[in-house]
Amino acid sequence: MRISTLRQRMRDLGCKPCHEDRLLRGWMQQCSYDRKGSPAETFFPLALRNVLPAIEAELDMLARLHGEVPANSHPNHDCSPTQTLMEPLATRLSPQAGKSLVIPRIAGEGTNVALRASSNNDEVARLLVELHDGQMVESVLLPRGGLCISTQVGCAVGCVFCMSGKNGLLRQLGSAEIVAQVVLARRRRAVSKVVFMGMGEPAHNLDNVLEAIDVLGTQGNIGHKNLVLSTVGDLRVFERLMDKCTHVDQPSPQPSDETTSHSTKHDKSMQVAGYPTSGRGSEREVQSSILVKPALALSLHTTDAALRAKLLPHAPQIAIAELVERAEVYARATSYPVQYQWTLIEGMNDSDAELERIAALLAEKYAVMNFIPFNPVDGLPYRRPSTERIAAMVAYLKQRGILAKIRDSAGQEIEGACGQLRARAVESAKSSRIKTTNL
Ligand code: SF4
Repeated sequence: MRISTLRQRMRDLGCKPCHEDRLLRGWMQQCSYDRKGSPAETFFPLALRNVLPAIEAELDMLARLHGEVPANSHPNHDCSPTQTLMEPLATRLSPQAGKSLVIPRIAGEGTNVALRASSNNDEVARLLVELHDGQMVESVLLPRGGLCISTQVGCAVGCVFCMSGKNGLLRQLGSAEIVAQVVLARRRRAVSKVVFMGMGEPAHNLDNVLEAIDVLGTQGNIGHKNLVLSTVGDLRVFERLMDKCTHVDQPSPQPSDETTSHSTKHDKSMQVAGYPTSGRGSEREVQSSILVKPALALSLHTTDAALRAKLLPHAPQIAIAELVERAEVYARATSYPVQYQWTLIEGMNDSDAELERIAALLAEKYAVMNFIPFNPVDGLPYRRPSTERIAAMVAYLKQRGILAKIRDSAGQEIEGACGQLRARAVESAKSSRIKTTNL
């Protein structure tokens, strides 16, 4: 499901943008639909109230917890496969649930309150998320309120060190499915940062990813620089992101009472030479899309073009210097540094020569280099460099004036690399099907 489809459905029921925004906000922030002096029971049109339980049930089916590693990492959570963590909002908002549409806010009155009161914002876990059609993706709860989410089932880039790309692309996630992963995570603890670095290449599902980013940065209450769009480097990403910087923000043609503080706080109108505007979509969609400018992460992994073509076999063949230059223009336009991603593989991309080239490539650039030590993947022959070597690489770059970090891998190390948990679940489902057939 796409957020735009949901909005259209609501419009067909006679809703205005303010109604759409309030519903999305309640869903994404897991909060009451009521506002001071504007209770939902009088604010929402009757046609919407009548179908609200059905809409919420549908939203609830978008992303459900199938499993997690470590198991039951949440102290309050004893979750069997496909069980959701909280009773649906509709249960608490339907006329049958009581006279008021207010979600209980006193501890003990509502399951969500109990979960949040004791939730640990540093909780780290890899979640196996089941989508409405039974397909599965992974999300990772990261320290300090971070969440890594998936944008596709499988991936077409086929990086040789990644499990997610092993079987190619299975399907795209709709923007609502992307956002639903944030909702699922928020049902157990706060989420203040979302990185689009899970399964899938966001550039291959750009309309849905940008729609999700827009709604998370407005009704989802995530700071724009805390939305991190990751790519292997695709011209479409640079063009669409620069569109956001070259459009002059305008007030919405249908003003909403639901605009969050983030909508204007991070947005200055900027004109960047050399990047024409493109005028995609309807006026409303274009205006919505210019509100939120995410931070950019670029998966580089090597400065050697030939090696990169081997490591990322289906990534666009764009000269590395051009990738860095385009990313730099966006970083300067937004004032967020580019986050370069570099999966460290022993004997592959950890040489002194690579370090020299990184130092030259990123000199004077508004950038941070994130080294991600390789996580073992079943059946792959790669290894991570030693701890000493990784530390020496970081120290060298720092000495050359390049900000370099070993990416906090607390979440990444849970049960190995991205896609591995899903792969095991798929294998186990296959073998139990085989066993059943043989009975
Ligand atoms: S590392 Fe990212 S881009 Fe590469 S195959 Fe895996 S999911 Fe796709």
